[in-house]
Amino acid sequence: MRQRTLVALVLTALIAAALAAAYAMRGPLAVAGLGRLYERAFARDPYAGLPDGLHVGLCGAGAPLPDPTRAGPCVAVLAGRRLFVVDAGDGGVRNLALMNLPPPQVEAAFLTHFHSDHIDGLGELMLQRWAGGAWTTPLPIYGPTGVEQVVAGFQAAYALDRGYRIVHHGPKVMPPSGAGGEARAFTAGRDAPDVVLIDDPDLKVTAFPVDHHPAEPAVGYRFAYKGRVAVISGDTAPSPRLEAAARGADLLVHEGLAPNLVAVQRRAALAAGKANLAAILHDILSYHTTPEQAAAIAQRAGVRYLLFDHVIPPLPVAALDGPYLGRSRRIFSGTVRVGRDGDFVSLPAGETTIRRTGRLRTFR
Ligand SMILES: [Zn+2]
Ligand SMILES: [Zn+2]
Repeated sequence: MRQRTLVALVLTALIAAALAAAYAMRGPLAVAGLGRLYERAFARDPYAGLPDGLHVGLCGAGAPLPDPTRAGPCVAVLAGRRLFVVDAGDGGVRNLALMNLPPPQVEAAFLTHFHSDHIDGLGELMLQRWAGGAWTTPLPIYGPTGVEQVVAGFQAAYALDRGYRIVHHGPKVMPPSGAGGEARAFTAGRDAPDVVLIDDPDLKVTAFPVDHHPAEPAVGYRFAYKGRVAVISGDTAPSPRLEAAARGADLLVHEGLAPNLVAVQRRAALAAGKANLAAILHDILSYHTTPEQAAAIAQRAGVRYLLFDHVIPPLPVAALDGPYLGRSRRIFSGTVRVGRDGDFVSLPAGETTIRRTGRLRTFR
């Protein structure tokens, strides 16, 4: 018995010593792990394991107010192996990388409108694509009229940075002709017809006008790839044009503002004497859609999966999902989800399945 106790004591001491040694070596061990992590990440095909099809990821599920689980508006669309981004909200580009949707592989960006929260990451998107991809042509940026002004502004703001990088790394690493973006403007009046922007054998991308007055023009986008369809609303009040575009879609990514929760925020702002914030929280009700309204639109359009983005107000705990959605789950018979950064919905070609995974990796 005494011998067994002795063995146990020795073993415990050995284990404690080993743990202490490992703890003391945690720095070098972490460096070794980091090396292996990079080796794997750089060698890996980012789309390995994904079926051919249409995939839609939320690189930013939030809106202007800070939300720790939601960056600014950003939707990634992967059609086969062609990567696109709809809107470039702050933090969205970093999320793209964390979702292993490499910014250098972005073929084109699409802007829904020019409110600051949808464009404040655009400089970073253009930079990351250029710096990581040695592109010799600028990023095509589709948008309704006004996109030229936005892109020109970013080009001007980034002109010094562009110069530093070309000098520092050389034109082979940073080809001067690939810096920045190239605006591809189209006309999208409220009563104008839908505009086809890409019409390839397997992929069709269409813009349609929505109602976000006084932010005009404002559009949503419809992506159709090998029989699967995803529609992205952009910012809008309930819109019949969006409903028409979403008819029969597999996935509708729709913005959603919950007035019941914004009212809570507004009352607190008033109580604290923050009249300006209270006024803004009142005004935003007029040009957004409530989750229940979006659910009714999705139901009428025959959509199969409704994913909320541009979530207003911020929802710091998951327990607020229910109050945010209200009666949405009773109104809409398909699947509903309050979006979070990293949500990734896959629509495999030639199938009817819809599968959601989380693609955000923070390595923590
Ligand atoms: Zn917005
Ligand atoms: Zn807006």
